Amino acid sequence: MTLAMSQLELSADQRLMQKTTREYVDRIVIPFIKANREREWLFEPDQRLPRSILEEADRAGLRGLGVPEAYGGLELDPGTEAQTFAVIATELGRGDAGLADKLAQGWKVSVLLRNVAPEHLQAHWFPRYMADPSFLMAHCLTEPKGASDRWLPYNVPEANMDTRATFADGHWTINGRKQYISNGYDASLYVVYANTDPTVGMLQGTSSFLVPRDTPGLTVTRCNETIGGRYMNNGEITFEDCRVPEDHLLVRGEALGNAGVYFRPGKILQAAKNLGTGIAAFEDTATFVQQHVQGGKVLIKHQAVALRLARMATKLDAVGAFLHRAARAVDENAADTEKLCNMVKVFASEEIFDVCRDALELHGGHGSMLDVGIEKYLRDAAVYLHMDATADISAFKIVKAMFPETAGAYAGPE
Ligand SMILES: Cc1cc2nc3c(=O)[nH]c(=O)nc-3n(C[C@H](O)[C@H](O)[C@H](O)COP(=O)(O)OP(=O)(O)OC[C@H]3O[C@@H](n4cnc5c(N)ncnc54)[C@H](O)[C@@H]3O)c2cc1C
Repeated sequence: MTLAMSQLELSADQRLMQKTTREYVDRIVIPFIKANREREWLFEPDQRLPRSILEEADRAGLRGLGVPEAYGGLELDPGTEAQTFAVIATELGRGDAGLADKLAQGWKVSVLLRNVAPEHLQAHWFPRYMADPSFLMAHCLTEPKGASDRWLPYNVPEANMDTRATFADGHWTINGRKQYISNGYDASLYVVYANTDPTVGMLQGTSSFLVPRDTPGLTVTRCNETIGGRYMNNGEITFEDCRVPEDHLLVRGEALGNAGVYFRPGKILQAAKNLGTGIAAFEDTATFVQQHVQGGKVLIKHQAVALRLARMATKLDAVGAFLHRAARAVDENAADTEKLCNMVKVFASEEIFDVCRDALELHGGHGSMLDVGIEKYLRDAAVYLHMDATADISAFKIVKAMFPETAGAYAGPE
């Protein structure tokens, strides 16, 4: 049974990648998750995910997506890249949300670096990334002062980032703090956003930098213990007089605008990973209701159960179809891409959360037990509600994209 991204709409290459990812998930990821239900709760982040899981992902060719072929990566057909990302991420999400996030972060940052990093830095970092399956990358925007505001965006100086970068003697010096960063705890390479001109709005005054982990002044201060996606180590990083050479500036001033190559496929990836969680919850539930007997009959024969199951399947197909439409818009650079990306991210997060809640309900008491694994889907789905902007801020962005002249004006003083 394929619930999402109908086979008919996939090319031969996409079908092959879907098959490879599904085999990896079925052979490596799901058996690991099922056999180690308590492992995600280890409070030593380094001990949670065995290195072998990433090595197997590497062997299956799932780490090098987005990396230029010249550096050993797998460049997808640009005309269908977002759609292919969606297919692969859905499959990975079916295995584990945190692992999917860990890997997808590498694809997104690779696409960004391919677009904005100078050639000599690509030649330095991509081979290192490809050579080491445990090499992770992170993308640091969010700060204690906030994140969602960045995405409105209120393009005024008072909304600027607190993290500052100043230039002197051929070096940029970064000071500030980033929080809630995917792979932030264990990344080897960071893309960091900082204000470089406090007199203008964030769209003109934010620059991005490439910062290797071992740069003096960069300190990983903690791993956040999240309720879901726990195999991705979310972290906090401080920058204290952290100096990088001039050529580590990726985009000057207009970094947020240039990050579209990261965020548009990024929203597609969020929705796709999220869909994978929902599919897994449905698959487990479909099995359970055909085995578990109550009132003398297997659950599926009870009409209330059938209703819930139908609702879950309908939501999954709706998310799958919408995901396909939004991913196509990204690949075709359609005029309504921005709107669709935000819509599908929010729609998926709310629908899949409901799907996982139904899964929990249909499992009765089993649904709350750690060793059954259904509660994990609900926890994983909960995190998607506010990853990559909250639902409300995303809604605001949708309306702003639709009515740019009247929506989204700064809420503060004129
Ligand atoms: C698992 C996980 C992974 C993440 N990975 C990354 C990453 O890799 N890189 C990165 O940079 N960030 C990352 N984040 C951060 C994420 O993008 C932010 O948490 C998210 O954008 C919400 O921002 P916030 O936490 O500052 O919430 P806030 O902005 O403080 O929001 C709190 C509440 O206020 C509302 N709100 C905020 N501002 C306004 C406004 N102006 N008007 C009306 N309502 C408002 C929001 O809708 C929300 O309900 C991650 C977060 C999580 C949980």
